[in-house]
This record gives sequence, structure tokens and C-alpha cells, in this order.
Amino acid sequence: MFDVLKERFGYDSFRTGQKEIIEDVLNGWDCVAMLPTGGGKSLCYQLPGYILEGSVLIISPLVSLMEDQVQQLRNRGEKRVVALNRFLSYREKQDVLRELASYRFIYASPEILQSPMLIEALARIRISLFVVDEAHCISQWGHDFRPDFLKLGLLREMFGDPPCLALTATATRQVVEDIVKTLNLKHVKHHIYPLDRPNICLYVQYVHTVEEKIEALKELIASLPKPGIVYVSSRQWAEALAQTLHGEYRVSYYHGGMDGEQRLLIQQQFVYDQLDVICCTNAFGMGINKSNVRFVIHFHLPTQPEAYWQEIGRAGRDGNESIAVLLYAPGDEQLGQAMIDIEFPTIEQIVYALHALRSEQKETGLTDVQQRLLLYWLEQMDTQEDVNILAKQLYVHIEQRKKEKMNKWIFMQQWVNEQTCRRRAMLSYFGQQPLPNERCCDRCGAHIYVNAPTTHIQPIQLRPWREELRSMFAIKVETE
Ligand code: ADP
Ligand code: MG
Repeated sequence: MFDVLKERFGYDSFRTGQKEIIEDVLNGWDCVAMLPTGGGKSLCYQLPGYILEGSVLIISPLVSLMEDQVQQLRNRGEKRVVALNRFLSYREKQDVLRELASYRFIYASPEILQSPMLIEALARIRISLFVVDEAHCISQWGHDFRPDFLKLGLLREMFGDPPCLALTATATRQVVEDIVKTLNLKHVKHHIYPLDRPNICLYVQYVHTVEEKIEALKELIASLPKPGIVYVSSRQWAEALAQTLHGEYRVSYYHGGMDGEQRLLIQQQFVYDQLDVICCTNAFGMGINKSNVRFVIHFHLPTQPEAYWQEIGRAGRDGNESIAVLLYAPGDEQLGQAMIDIEFPTIEQIVYALHALRSEQKETGLTDVQQRLLLYWLEQMDTQEDVNILAKQLYVHIEQRKKEKMNKWIFMQQWVNEQTCRRRAMLSYFGQQPLPNERCCDRCGAHIYVNAPTTHIQPIQLRPWREELRSMFAIKVETE
């Protein structure tokens, strides 16, 4: 094991949890592994890939993430790796399928695993390990719930019931249980490691109005070491804030409304240190491998603790001091409610969609995710029923999901007004406790001192200048 680690990956030692997880994987256990973002989850299946016979199948929810992983493996000299996703042409897919057994690592998106042709091809080869990355997407209580993930348990059986490794960075106990159930794991080992990231200081900054918030953002960005990420709740805000900061920093925006190529470009620019700040929606960041992010600012309150924790986790993967600042203005609580309302269809929309589906129209008026979820629930119902009755039955599911979302939102609102340690309060949601740290949170006495004149900064173009300024505007923290 150590020789593979050294020879194939060039690492001298395992990180927390890796060795234990890999040992259990090699011994044929099903494993649920929760390691923090940047903890090195990929190695837990990549290393076994060089020891086990057959192919490792990795189900990964995001295409950009998948391409990234494949590229990293290729950079290490691995040729026997392939990504199956909708970007493959028909021809390419045919070629890959013919030689499927020759690949050591097969990455696949859950969507593409709906293809019968592909399922057949995978069922024919030997799969030594079935990996589900970002496994919280399986659970209806997870924050990135994806209906396409729900059939993975079934698929696993069709592929000869290989051992399974489910990986996640944020899951409550309930989500872990749900993962085990959905994937039908039987001989399970749980590897749950601390989620806390002691090098990230948590900070909530209260302002009165949106204008103040924008000013606070500018000040923060001027004084904090870069690069950093600004999370917002909508595409419009991502673009507007990037516009506001434009000229002073190398800044760009990123959201789900941009085309794939554009997104990939900006992501790469950020990863390769060509941007100081990226203003983005939650479409950005999952699985992105960048170690030196110094701050994550939330311009809007995230609607779920899982999302908050995962997003701030993109800071400080190198272990160096980093900060997560949440900007909060009164009235922000309406936003979450609105977002939850938009996410779910109304009963009228469901009735319309059902009529559309019956008459085989393409346009159901639902978003992709809503539609896939609807189809999934419909599979378990008597679809001969009257449309109105069916819609009512479906709505029961929706009400339930809405209620769960609402509870998470209520937690976030309480957390923002939390009078005691932010870290302790947040981690208790995941059933965990803080690790020892040097600067914890605003409630524990950490301060951000904006000690430099920040309003009249000249546009900065040259790197040495920027670096000089960066060191001048270093943050200071006091622990009381
Ligand atoms: P995760 O999926 O848990 O967020 P990754 O698997 O993407 O994290 O790994 C994050 C980074 O850590 C990668 O750059 C990877 O190369 C590095 N890494 C993983 N394991 C080790 C190790 N044992 N020693 C040094 N670096 C490691
Ligand atoms: Mg990962």
C-alpha cells in the first residue's frame, strides 16, 4: 500500500482516515466515508484501483468535477481512465464501450447511467469497486438532492454487487443512514472524521441595508488576502457584484446560466491564480481543487447549513489561516423563503405537467430537476389515476420536502443570531464538536480589523504591486 502511495501518487504519508478507509475497501467492506473538503477522498478509491483487479466505477455528480479528476489522473500518467458523460459523441461512446474492460477507472454521471446500452456494457465487465462521490446527493435530506442518484442501489446489484465506497464531505447522521439504505449497503464500515476546519475563522458581519452590505464587501475585499470567493443567491447578483469590483481586481462571475465552456474557462482561471475574486452562485465550487483560497464571503445567507459548511470549506485547504465572512442585513430572511418557494412546483404546475406528460408533450413547464423528481415519484404510483388525484398525491411528497428545507432554513436564521460560539452551533447540526483552534469566530472574540484606507484604491494591474498591497492590508485578529 505504501509503495503504491509513493510510486503512483508521490506522497510520503496518508492523510487522516485514508489508510483506514483504503484498508477496509481492500478487504471488501462497504464503506461510508466522511472526510472534510480537501481531505483527500479521491485517493481512497484511486489507490485501491491499482491493487484490485477489474475496474473502479466512480459515480460523480458534476461533469466539470469529473473532467478535473480524469485530468489529474492523466497528469499522473494514468491512461486507462475514461469519463462517461453527455459530452461524449455517439462514436466515442461506441469506442469506449467496446473496450470498457480495459479501463482501470471509469467515471460516470448518474444521468448517463440511465442509458440501457451503457448499463449492459458495465454489467458485462468486472467492477471491483463501486464509488459514489458526493454521496449526500442521494439523500432527500442532503442539500444537493438529485433524483438520478436514487437508482444507484439497483445498478450496483446489476453490476454484480461489488463493494461500495460512498464519499461525502458534509452529512448529518440522518443523511448517512439514508445513504446506507439507498445504496443497499450490507457490510458497512463507517468512517466519520471531524468536519471542523480549525484554520477557517467564522465571522458574521451585521449591516443595516443592501448598500451597506456592498460597502462592507468592498472593504473586506480590499483588506483580506486574496484569492477569495463571494457567494450570492442569484445570477444577477453574481454579475452585478463582479461589475462593482471590476477595475480594481481581477474579478469574474460564475453561475449556472452560463454555457459549459465559459464556466470551465473561468473555473480554470480561478484555479490557476488568474483571478483575485470570483462572484458566484452555489453552482461554483463543488470538488474544485484549489488550496490557497483565503476567504469565502457569503453575501446572502445560505439556505442550508450543509451548503454553508461546504462553501466555506473551499477556503484554506492548504491549512493556512483563512476566513469565512457572512454579511447579514435585516430582511435577508425573506430571501430564503422565496428561494424555497421557487424551488418547488405548485399544485397547478403539477397538474399542468401531468397533462403534458400524458399527451407526450415535451414542455412540462418544470425545471429539469423538478421533472426528474416527479418522474421518479410517478414510477411508484398508479399512473392510471385521475390527474388531479395524482397531483394531490405528488404534492404530499413536495410538502414533505418543503418542510425539511424549511427546517434547515430556520436553523440558518437562528445560527445567524446565535449568541454563543458559531462553530460549536454549526457543528452540533452535524452531530460534531469543534477541534482546538487559534481563532474561532466573532462570538469567541475574533475580529477583522480593516485597518487600511480602502475607499480610494487605484486600479491595480501589476502583480508585484498587488502583492505588496496584499501584505500591507493583512488582517489582524485579536483573541480576548
Ligand atoms: P476531497 O475530494 O476530499 O475534497 P481531493 O481528493 O480532491 O479532496 O484531494 C485534495 C488534494 O489533496 C489533492 O490535491 C490531492 O492530490 C491531495 N492529497 C490527497 N491525499 C494526499 C496525501 N496522502 N498526501 C498529500 N496530498 C494528498
Ligand atoms: Mg472530492
